[in-house]
Amino acid sequence: MTDASLARQTMKDGIRPGGVIGILGGGQLGRMTALAAAELGYRTVIFDPDANCPAGHVAETVTAAYTDRDALDRFSAKVDVVTLEFENVPVEALTHLAQTVPVRPGATVLSAAQDRAVEKTFLNDAGIETAPWATIETPADIDAAVAKIGLPAVLKTSRLGYDGKGQAMIQPGDDVRAAFERFGRVPCVLEGLIDFECELSVIAARRDDGASAVFPPVMNEHRDHILYKTHAPAGLPDAVEQEAVEIARKATEGLSVTGLLAVEMFLTKQGTLLVNEVAPRPHNSGHWTMDACATSQFQQLVRAVCGLPLGSTDILYPAVMTNLLGDECEEWSEILSDPRAKLHLYGKSEARPGRKMGHVNRPK
Ligand code: AMP
Repeated sequence: MTDASLARQTMKDGIRPGGVIGILGGGQLGRMTALAAAELGYRTVIFDPDANCPAGHVAETVTAAYTDRDALDRFSAKVDVVTLEFENVPVEALTHLAQTVPVRPGATVLSAAQDRAVEKTFLNDAGIETAPWATIETPADIDAAVAKIGLPAVLKTSRLGYDGKGQAMIQPGDDVRAAFERFGRVPCVLEGLIDFECELSVIAARRDDGASAVFPPVMNEHRDHILYKTHAPAGLPDAVEQEAVEIARKATEGLSVTGLLAVEMFLTKQGTLLVNEVAPRPHNSGHWTMDACATSQFQQLVRAVCGLPLGSTDILYPAVMTNLLGDECEEWSEILSDPRAKLHLYGKSEARPGRKMGHVNRPK
């Protein structure tokens, strides 16, 4: 019996330290999860198509395409539980793995998070408000969608969008058809443009048995659609923050997530909270927890998927997380000269513009 299968016998009571966590995706989120797993005595195996992925520098790696079933079988034989750090893993990879190993979160959660229309339907059905939206699957849907939503609006591809990719702002008089053609006629959603007061996010953790813990809401600033700064705590009125926490809890429960769910929201000028999107994994807006929270989001993920007691989400001190994009990572020496700054670099060799190279947490 291998070490992995021995540890799997303890599944009823959770996966004990000494077990092996498999992570689909080897980006910075996988890297930081692997480091947190090591702190609790777990080993990690990463599955990623890129042999030089950031998580591969700190953990064993299986290098193969997500569609390679033999490689998925080799991976599942090494691990006691599988989680993910990347949403665009094919759902089939999860269903295949789930035949031999617990996959947390599972295929249903991933399918919802991969498709904006499915995600919004789920959220609205659970009583959670979103921006008004309509689907556009063919050019014939455009007029009805514009009539329902009005302009200005944002056209988003239903699948494979992130950090503003696959998004087009549509102003009155603009040609929606041209934008739809530019996206290659793939299924899209047209969303009302929200004139928001601010953007916030809440990360919730949930175990298989339903136990949950929610991190405090944080406020996010974007530059060119990419997260730039996170302010923790958000500093909004208590009632708004409590409502944001309740929304995150409701979404996590409704989707029966085992692991983490990051919920991004807009606070409108009228004081309403609208959910923009959810991600069933660690989130960039949770990086402040590595230094300024009793438990980091990465350790919380490990605890949640292994069935360990969840850690406290108490904030230790108000903090600001700043992303280091592209060649901003060259500022490492200046950042380190502030003794209170906590620098995290992801070990990526090529600093392409807009690429997330690291982040820094500072007390406010
Ligand atoms: P997303 O890829 O959906 O997270 O969108 C990226 C960013 O675009 C968001 O964080 C917002 O700053 C902006 N955005 C997206 N959707 C809307 C919307 N319906 N109204 C206003 N701003 C939006």
